[in-house]
Amino acid sequence: MEIEKVKCLIVGSGPAGYTAAIYAGRANLSPVLYEGLQPGGQLTTTTDVENFPGYPEGISGPQLMEDLRAQAGRFGADIRFGIATASDLSKAPYKITIDGDKEIETETLIIATGATAKYLGLDDEKKYAGMGVSACATCDGFFYRKKVVAVVGGGDTACEEAIYLAGLASKVYLVVRKPYLRASKIMQERVRNHEKIEVLFEHNVTGLFGENGVEGMSLVKRWGEPDEERYTLPVDGFFLAIGHKPNSDIFKPYLDTDEVGYIITTPDKPCTKIPGVFAAGDVADPHYRQAITAAGSGCKAAIEAERYLSEKGLI
Ligand code: NDP
Repeated sequence: MEIEKVKCLIVGSGPAGYTAAIYAGRANLSPVLYEGLQPGGQLTTTTDVENFPGYPEGISGPQLMEDLRAQAGRFGADIRFGIATASDLSKAPYKITIDGDKEIETETLIIATGATAKYLGLDDEKKYAGMGVSACATCDGFFYRKKVVAVVGGGDTACEEAIYLAGLASKVYLVVRKPYLRASKIMQERVRNHEKIEVLFEHNVTGLFGENGVEGMSLVKRWGEPDEERYTLPVDGFFLAIGHKPNSDIFKPYLDTDEVGYIITTPDKPCTKIPGVFAAGDVADPHYRQAITAAGSGCKAAIEAERYLSEKGLI
């Protein structure tokens, strides 16, 4: 297997990975960054980002990531396509396998692999994958112009996706399992005031049906209660927005994670229990999961990497 030695390896290309690359590049660490499955990360599937400081009019998620990528490139970050498929963090230098056929030996590792959308776990989600089921409204909403769609979830993502889809579709059902939305107040208001969005509180989806793609969903209202109600609704598209799973699997044998899989770091720092290995962004953040907090932790990780290398006399 081909082996390459580097001082600073960054895995992942969301705001955390790119920001780490900007800082590591400016600190002359010659960082190598592998972009992973979804170059640019989750923000490439979002619409307008209104809360990233510095953009009073907002900016599109893909544009923000393109700008961060260009900024990292400007300071010499070596940005590559490739997916980290295995890790050996038993001793330094740490070994990361890329695409199963190349090994990077690195003195410092910044894990910024983010998180991936969750599904309900229904067989029908697999059956209709690419045929009406999606976890990305921005990617697939276009196919549902003037059609009826459902979005599952009650958080900010679900509200954001419902609002985005309402701009295209004729009707959007927001299916929420609790009697309230978990989303921020402003998003709740926007959903409530949108004439095309109907919120179905205390509803669970138990299945999907259709001949050549999704044509409807089976619902249970107030599941398990004396007044439980089961019925179906016709929908053309079915969007999941029920949260994310941190992409930490290949590091789990070596690092501590919580029960969901978020990598545990020192409080307020991106340091893991292994010296020289840092975790930044959503893969280590069950609390905030914002672009700006991810960027902040990417910055911290690069600063820590620089200090570690300096203390070891490696730079
Ligand atoms: P959240 O974890 O906040 O919300 C997930 C939602 O999905 C909850 O309503 C949850 O229900 C529901 N859910 C989870 N599992 C199931 C299931 N099996 N069946 C039905 N419903 C289910 O995730 P989000 O992705 O919405 O947000 C993640 C973070 O990102 C949050 O901190 C959010 O504020 C932030 N965010 C911010 C945005 C912005 O500021 N512009 C945009 C998007 C996200 P329940 O409430 O019952 O647990």
